[in-house]
Amino acid sequence: MTTEPTKPRLVNPEPQPEDGKLDQSIRPQKLKDLIGQERVKENLSILIAAAKQRGEALDHVLFYGPPGLGKTTLAHVLANEMGVNIKITAGPAIERAGDLAAILTNLRAGDILFIDEVHRLGRVVEEVLYPAMEDFALDIVIGKGPSARSIRLKLPRFSVIGATTRMALLTAPLRARFGAVYHLDYYEPEAMRQIVQRAVGVFAAKAETEGIEEIARRGRGTPRVALRLLRRVRDYAQVRANGVITRTVAQQALDLLNVDRLGLDEMDVRVLKTIIEKYRGGPVGLSTIAASVSEEQDTIMDVVEPYLLQLGFLERTSQGRVATKLAYEHLGLTYVENGQQRLL
Ligand code: ADP
Repeated sequence: MTTEPTKPRLVNPEPQPEDGKLDQSIRPQKLKDLIGQERVKENLSILIAAAKQRGEALDHVLFYGPPGLGKTTLAHVLANEMGVNIKITAGPAIERAGDLAAILTNLRAGDILFIDEVHRLGRVVEEVLYPAMEDFALDIVIGKGPSARSIRLKLPRFSVIGATTRMALLTAPLRARFGAVYHLDYYEPEAMRQIVQRAVGVFAAKAETEGIEEIARRGRGTPRVALRLLRRVRDYAQVRANGVITRTVAQQALDLLNVDRLGLDEMDVRVLKTIIEKYRGGPVGLSTIAASVSEEQDTIMDVVEPYLLQLGFLERTSQGRVATKLAYEHLGLTYVENGQQRLL
């Protein structure tokens, strides 16, 4: 078992400190600037137009999908399109019912309240949110003991935009209060290419088409990852080449950073190799994998597995995780037809 401490991953789709300014400067502002996710965009344009025509606040919207695909960006875009203010918070940040009450009473008509990681709201806080979303009302208990009484405050009509990476952890009553629910999926290669291309323009970097394609391909279908890789490749091009991001420059830079041609890094490879070499391809349970690679189960589930599943390198079965033939091939390992696979 390996016990080395985990390093920050360059391909981690969750926000990292280094992304801070980048995320702000490069975030598309309007629906028309958003690349990819065509079906979601079309649905949102209808939602926006309908709300505007009726002169009402936007319906409550829930976005779910892996991190880094644009849930926060979409919330900002919706606020811009509706011409309203957006208040940003996150499930774990709202600790007490009073915290939520303070946020709600400061909203104006039409405003958007964006709650990231909405599945991590506490139960008591959630119970305050239900009537707020449904009846635009806030129930406040005044006093204690037998003399306590509840008064109902009216709130302006506002919209909650929730985002979650773990739909299964959302409680049914909360889920039911979102009028519109959209799934964000990994971006198609062409959309990824356009996202990198656009960022090259925003950064005023110099890049050839093949260089852009190489970064896009290794970006794991995730804009946040591709944009981070672009910055590192741009640095490499500046220091080691003549500043132009060609295919060779992108390949060399990303190889040096241990991001392989499909965007897999050491952690992905360790997870796959654990399944293949220690457990003969699986099936093996998540907790066993997590212990073998010295990583949290949640991390494996949220930021390692989704992309491996998307690539078709991993399958989830009732008995556990199984590495597929594609995974063996990618790692240059011989696939044993009569291994554990036959249990499927
Ligand atoms: P999430 O909230 O899902 O984790 P974000 O909305 O913070 O993801 O997006 C991460 C980064 O990716 C941001 O810098 C954003 O500008 C960029 N991005 C996301 N979606 C798109 C898109 N459709 N087109 C262009 N850039 C995007």
